[in-house]
Amino acid sequence: MQLLECDGKRLLKEWGIPVPKGLLLTSADGLSDALTQLDGKAVLKIQVPVGRRGKAGGIRLIRDSNEGKVFFEQWVGERHGGFVVESILAEEPLAIAKEFYMSVALNAREGNFYFVFSAEGGVDIEETSRQHPDKVLKVRFSPAADGKEFHFRNILLEQGYTGSLLLALSNVAVNLYKGFGMVNALLAEINPLVLLESGAVMAADAKIEIDDSALFRLRDKKFFTVTPDELEREAKDIGVTYIKLEGGDVAIIASGAGLSMNTMDLIYETGLKPANFLETGGGITRELVRRSVHLVLKNESAHAIIVNLYGGVNSLLEAAIGIVAGVQELKRPVPVVVKALGNQQEECWALLEEHNIPVIKSHRTEDAVAYIKRQLDTAKS
Ligand code: GDP
Ligand code: MN
Repeated sequence: MQLLECDGKRLLKEWGIPVPKGLLLTSADGLSDALTQLDGKAVLKIQVPVGRRGKAGGIRLIRDSNEGKVFFEQWVGERHGGFVVESILAEEPLAIAKEFYMSVALNAREGNFYFVFSAEGGVDIEETSRQHPDKVLKVRFSPAADGKEFHFRNILLEQGYTGSLLLALSNVAVNLYKGFGMVNALLAEINPLVLLESGAVMAADAKIEIDDSALFRLRDKKFFTVTPDELEREAKDIGVTYIKLEGGDVAIIASGAGLSMNTMDLIYETGLKPANFLETGGGITRELVRRSVHLVLKNESAHAIIVNLYGGVNSLLEAAIGIVAGVQELKRPVPVVVKALGNQQEECWALLEEHNIPVIKSHRTEDAVAYIKRQLDTAKS
């Protein structure tokens, strides 16, 4: 689980790493109070567990509550990187002189930790690592040999740091390393770690990822549950298991996980891409199917739907009623094909055909995929 920045910073502070003074807000109501506490100005930062918020306009300096209100109106309820913004961190503005990158990461394959540091912070570290590998320092630590402050001081001394900056940086490093181990983190990243004009060093951002199996040990910390993707949340509400696949062409509604995966494979074989995984489970109702039709098309790249069902416990007639309702309501009509076999199949087929929805009556999912492929090819030409 990746923690929100506000929770990540809470941990950093516990570990002895300086962080900016800040308050978490869920509505604009708390703005004027926050501004008073932060001496009149604040940096507002959307809280979603993904980066590049700065580039997306999700970080803004405000000088009064009116500017803050505009930011809240713009962002609360909006999406960034597949997550819905539900809270905003208001922080004291920092006078930044320099931005560094610092992280500790687990390399599970090698069974050791990496300490990563760069004087080119604030930007995408993978990018820097690719273009200027010499500008990113990576030091391997064995979990058995515990990192002491002098280890980090020597590493940074070799990089040319001296004096109080050297001490401040190595202090952050050793605390980050220790804290990383304490919470069973997979990654503890500070990007940027900033040097302020005052000479102080502070974590301006925090990205901490914790091994899910270790979360139970941190129950008392009460982390904010990470805001799930809007579509996945809707799927949970509908009662289906859904995973969005970026850039896919063909949406899938299937009555089982295996059937859904098999449909995905066959879609790939035609050169198209599946737009999602969706499993209805055994509790099909017309409402569940109707809402699933809408859900899968919320992935903007999807431009066709394959419904692939087996009716055992499930009534296929019930499913057909839902499909017809869903398809009739579509604001963005797309080719649809249904393969449905089992309990009440004849009634299901009859209803679909009555509403001009193509039906595959064989046991071959290939036939359904080929039908969609033809439809999309003719639409293109
Ligand atoms: P990210 O884009 O999601 O990784 O968000 P960050 O928290 O890393 O912020 C991105 C950039 O915004 C940083 O690299 C800083 O340059 C800038 N920034 C963030 N907070 C402050 C602040 O309090 N003061 C100033 N001047 N810049 C900030
Ligand atoms: Mn960052």
